[in-house]
Amino acid sequence: MNNFSYTQANSAKEATGLLKDKPQAAYIAGGTTLLDMMKANLVEHPQLVDINTLPFKGIEQTADGLRIGAMERMSDVGENKLVLEQYPAISESLLLAASPQLRNMASIGGNILQRTRCGYFRDPAFPCNKRVPGSGCPALEGDNHNLAVLGTSDSCIATAYPGDLSVALAALDAVLTLENQKGKQRRVPVTEFYLLPGKTPQKENVLEPGELIVAVTIPAAAHARRSTYFKVRERASYAYALASAAVGLDVQGGTIRSARVALGGVGTKPWRSLEAEKLLVGKPATEATFRAAAAAALRGAQPRKENAFKVELAQNTLVQALMKVAG
Ligand SMILES: Cc1cc2nc3c(=O)[nH]c(=O)nc-3n(C[C@H](O)[C@H](O)[C@H](O)COP(=O)(O)OP(=O)(O)OC[C@H]3O[C@@H](n4cnc5c(N)ncnc54)[C@H](O)[C@@H]3O)c2cc1C
Ligand code: SF4
Repeated sequence: MNNFSYTQANSAKEATGLLKDKPQAAYIAGGTTLLDMMKANLVEHPQLVDINTLPFKGIEQTADGLRIGAMERMSDVGENKLVLEQYPAISESLLLAASPQLRNMASIGGNILQRTRCGYFRDPAFPCNKRVPGSGCPALEGDNHNLAVLGTSDSCIATAYPGDLSVALAALDAVLTLENQKGKQRRVPVTEFYLLPGKTPQKENVLEPGELIVAVTIPAAAHARRSTYFKVRERASYAYALASAAVGLDVQGGTIRSARVALGGVGTKPWRSLEAEKLLVGKPATEATFRAAAAAALRGAQPRKENAFKVELAQNTLVQALMKVAG
């Protein structure tokens, strides 16, 4: 781990200003991902700017929907009554993630920006196009059992965002509010925030250097109230998803009026499936409909030797989630 200096920022302007002068510096929120990466010498930041003092707080219903400040802790959001009742998929995605200790420490903004768990990326002894552009991708023919089958490229097949929350956010049309170094804010839908790897897997999202995540907004909707997050993992707790599904349905008289579907653990980014949604709307809420939607969601999959099992696993996960909200 490198030596670094530490500064507490008192305002967004001060925080972004500190990074303007030192582009290699980094913000620190809960530190649960950043410090791991520094200890493993995967990143070297000469300065850490603590953003815990910034007023990016609050969990409230506004005219735009549910607004969550980026500095709220995962546990506080997951256990919030409004989130539990009106946006259950968001609550479940948070409470099924990591461990209670991590959830108490980790922030919403930091969760959205966590990095891949690809073993080659996390071990500097191996080449990795994401860590060192142009160096190669041993995962293509190596250990890829936990990597992606959707949205992959010849350069990288990692689930760049391995976590849970952003899968639910993508399903429920969440929008991020970002603030740049000039103090200007912009809004970016979560579905457009993460980038596919293509030939530049090192560029994972649209965040500009020094730009802060301020808040997340999720529109209120009937399908958000009837939503869930279903996660399949290798042990009961403290594990990332092999496959997960965030779904929301509005069912009236047995017919699906609106549907939202996103998959986790199988895409290079949180994977919203408009194909599955199109198949669901207007159809009866039955297992046959759900199986057809699940087949559509995985249609473009490009499995590799060790992760081929994920195609069927993801389909079954999605069907289970849809059955739960339909039931
Ligand atoms: C053992 C273990 C198991 C885990 N299991 C899961 C799991 O099952 N599911 C899951 O979803 N997650 C899991 N996690 C990841 C955990 O959720 C993240 O570590 C956590 O959410 C990161 O939040 P943080 O506030 O600690 O971020 P930090 O580590 O402080 O920051 C992470 C990154 O985000 C940047 N950053 C933070 N906040 C902002 C902001 N507001 N604006 C701009 N940049 C910002 C930082 O500069 C840094 O680059 C696990 C982590 C560990 C260590
Ligand atoms: S899959 Fe991506 S992150 Fe993993 S080794 Fe290949 S380039 Fe690196």
